[in-house]
Amino acid sequence: MTDLFDVDQIPVVLMNLPAHIRGFCCLGSDYEPCIVLNARLPQEQRVRAYLHEIEHIRKGELYDAGYTEYAET
Ligand SMILES: [Zn+2]
Repeated sequence: MTDLFDVDQIPVVLMNLPAHIRGFCCLGSDYEPCIVLNARLPQEQRVRAYLHEIEHIRKGELYDAGYTEYAET
């Protein structure tokens, strides 16, 4: 499963987030995208959340300053 996290070389960080947050994408200090996933999620849902966030990054939505994401399915 770890291999999935290497797609596009986007780093993934697991954090203990509130249960209603699946994950989000953000810009690192060097303006490279990264994805934060809720460590509480089962692996299967982490992968789904990861793929979802990848799609946002591909669409360029990450670079919208107002972009935040919570509780999506
Ligand atoms: Zn989304």
